[in-house]
Formats: sequence, structure tokens, C-alpha cells
Amino acid sequence: MKIDWLIVGAGFSGCVLAERIASQLGQTVLIVEQRSHIGGNAYDDYDEHGILIHHYGPHIFHTNAHYIWDYLSQFTQWRIYHHQVLALVEGKPIPIPFNFNSLYQLFPTRYADKLTHQLIQHYGLNTKIPILKILETAPTPDLKFLADYIYQNLFHHYTLKQWGIKPEALSPGVTARVPIHLSRDNRYFQDQYQGLPKLGYTKLFNNLIKHPAIKLLLNTPYQELIGQIDYRHLIFTGPIDEYFSYQFGELPYRSLHFNFIHTPDHQHQPVATLNYPNDYQFTRITEFKHLTGQQMQGSTYVEEYPQTYQPGHNLPYYPIPQEETRELYRKYANLAESLKHQILFAGRLGDYQYYNMDQAVARALTLFKTVICQN
Ligand SMILES: Cc1cc2nc3c(=O)[nH]c(=O)nc-3n(C[C@H](O)[C@H](O)[C@H](O)COP(=O)(O)OP(=O)(O)OC[C@H]3O[C@@H](n4cnc5c(N)ncnc54)[C@H](O)[C@@H]3O)c2cc1C
Repeated sequence: MKIDWLIVGAGFSGCVLAERIASQLGQTVLIVEQRSHIGGNAYDDYDEHGILIHHYGPHIFHTNAHYIWDYLSQFTQWRIYHHQVLALVEGKPIPIPFNFNSLYQLFPTRYADKLTHQLIQHYGLNTKIPILKILETAPTPDLKFLADYIYQNLFHHYTLKQWGIKPEALSPGVTARVPIHLSRDNRYFQDQYQGLPKLGYTKLFNNLIKHPAIKLLLNTPYQELIGQIDYRHLIFTGPIDEYFSYQFGELPYRSLHFNFIHTPDHQHQPVATLNYPNDYQFTRITEFKHLTGQQMQGSTYVEEYPQTYQPGHNLPYYPIPQEETRELYRKYANLAESLKHQILFAGRLGDYQYYNMDQAVARALTLFKTVICQN
């Protein structure tokens, strides 16, 4: 039997596209997924102690796009949750993103008052200033000191750990993404909609692909199906360089090792995520019960160790945000463009682009509306 659409990858990109094609066009879809589960990196499941954990690191949904929140709300209810992060600096847990509360926690009150006054005077209240901008423009000796302090203690070593390269070697977009907030707002995200699926991400994914016209094949790399399946259209949400047999070279990624630890204690740390910018080899620890709101004795948390990506040994998580890598990606993108009537690429790996979950959903919905529906 001929399938209308073969979709490679059962993450947000693949599942949203499958849902749209099946429910809006009434066409058949087969999703092939090489892992043993759906959900891609947003997959969650209960560990042996009954704690709901995120297997590929903590995932907090946040968006300002009303239509994305509404779209996903057809498949899940939400637990409203506002993420909070602290960073350990000189033994003190300070709120991240760095804000006025962080300032008062680190410095004596009179000096913090002075710095606050100067920051407001030069950049305005309730603004967000990229750390590098303050460093470059620091208009007073006190603000220069503050910018240096934040750069060294919160940013420099953390970036080295996270990416394995100096902050200056990354695209400016990355550093611009790390602002200090001239407010007292301790929330990590300021988006209008924030939360986690009430019954977990995997349940949301199950609902997304429940349509009878959607079939799923797990534990199956796409390569095993070549020549075995008759389909009309292909959507590929795996790595674009892998699809083209790495003909221009491999696109580099940063990988992670996750170390899950269970404690009989009710709580391991005061907030969901504690960053360790300067100490240890891991970057952060996240305790899941803060995210999910689960009420039970015992708790599970995860340490994240950034690693070099080695195909076959670990998984590709973060595209490396550098100009050279964008150049290499563009070669693959041009090739993809020339084949656009046979195959569509989407998602974090297909577009070689770090997407938050809402961005992956937005990209899939746009692709559906502007390309798939027009053909
Ligand atoms: C540590 C970490 C934390 C994150 N935290 C957040 C967060 O808090 N909030 C947020 O909004 N976003 C977060 N993200 C981003 C989020 O994970 C992505 O936006 C989302 O996973 C993108 O979905 P996707 O479908 O494009 O890719 P993926 O989820 O990676 O799905 C791609 C799927 O394709 C499969 N695949 C690849 N190649 C093949 C092949 N050849 N054959 C068959 N299957 C294949 C893969 O196994 C995978 O399941 C985080 C990401 C990471 C790594």
C-alpha cells in the first residue's frame, strides 16, 4: 500500500506535521523513529522510583505565541509553572538571569544601591541588556567593575563548559541571548505562556499522533527503510548532513551526558535548576519535582555534563552557533532547496538550528500552511 507521507523523526517537528497532514488533509502518514520512544528530546517517563523525569534534560514550555499555546492545548492540559534558576557564585545562590535581586545578594546594600541607580540611569528600568553590551559600553567605573564581575563569574566559565569554546568565538546572537534584567523579576522566562503538560510530554505526543491515519514505527532508522516503503512525499527531521551522506563534511554539535541521581530526601535543592558556572564539570543540576509538581517522598535530579559530539557514541543536541557552521549548513540547505519537490527538511536537526519547543512547533505549522497545503 502506498503511504502519502513518510516522516522521519517523532519529535515535536515530526509529530506536529503528522497531526496536521492527517487531520487537515485526510492523508496517510508513517512516522519512522530510530529511538524506542516518541517525543524526541522532550520525551519523559517515570523512573524506577515513580518520579517523572525528562530523559534528555529539563524541558520547560514557554511561548509568547497565543496560536501555539492554543494549538497544543488541544492535546494537553497544562500545569502552569514559572521556571526559577539560581547560580552558585562564591558560595551564594543568586537569581539567574542576573537582576537587581542578584545584585543585592552579592554586594553590600549601599554599593548595590549605587549600582542599581547607575544601571537605571544609563539603561532604564525594566530593560534587558546583553552582558557584552554592558562590558563594551560601561559608562562608569562601577558599571565596568560590575560587568567584569558578571562576565567572569557567571558567563565566561559557564560558556567554556557549555560550548567548549570562548564566548567571543560564538555568534553574537548567543551572547546577546544572555542579558541582565534591570528589574526584580526572578523568573527565568518572561513569556506570556509558561508551563508543562499536566500529564507529561509523552502523553501530549501520544495525543498528537492518535489519528487513525497516522502509523508509527519505532526502533527503525530511516536508512533501513530505503527501498522498502512506497510513499509519495518525504519529510526529514533527522540531521540534514546525515541525509546527504556528509558530502560536504559533518555539521558539528555539542552533546551532553546526563547523570540521574535519586535521593530519599523530599527535596534536594530550593529551586528547579541550580547553575554551577565556576565549579565542577557539570553545568547545572535540575530537580524534576519542582517542574512537575509531583508530591511524594524521595526526589530525582540530573547533572548535565557537556561533551564533544561523537557520532555513534553520543547524541547531537546543540548546533554550534558559529559563522563557519552556518556556512557549512548553507551548502546542505542549497542542496535541499534543489530537491524541495521530493523532500522537506524541518526541525532542530533538519534545519541545523537551535529551536525551543515552541519554535519547532511554529516551524512545523508554517511549513504545513505555506508549503504542504500549497502543493
Ligand atoms: C538539554 C536540552 C534542554 C532543552 N530544554 C528546553 C526547554 O526547556 N524549553 C524548550 O522550549 N526547548 C528546550 N529544548 C529544545 C527541544 O528539545 C527542541 O525544541 C525539540 O526537541 C525540537 O524537536 P524536533 O522534533 O525538531 O527534534 P528532536 O526532538 O531531536 O526530534 C528528532 C527525532 O528524529 C529522530 N531521528 C533522527 N535521525 C533519524 C533517522 N535517521 N531515522 C529515524 N529517526 C531519526 C531522533 O531520534 C529524534 O527522536 C532543550 C533541548 C535540550 C537538548
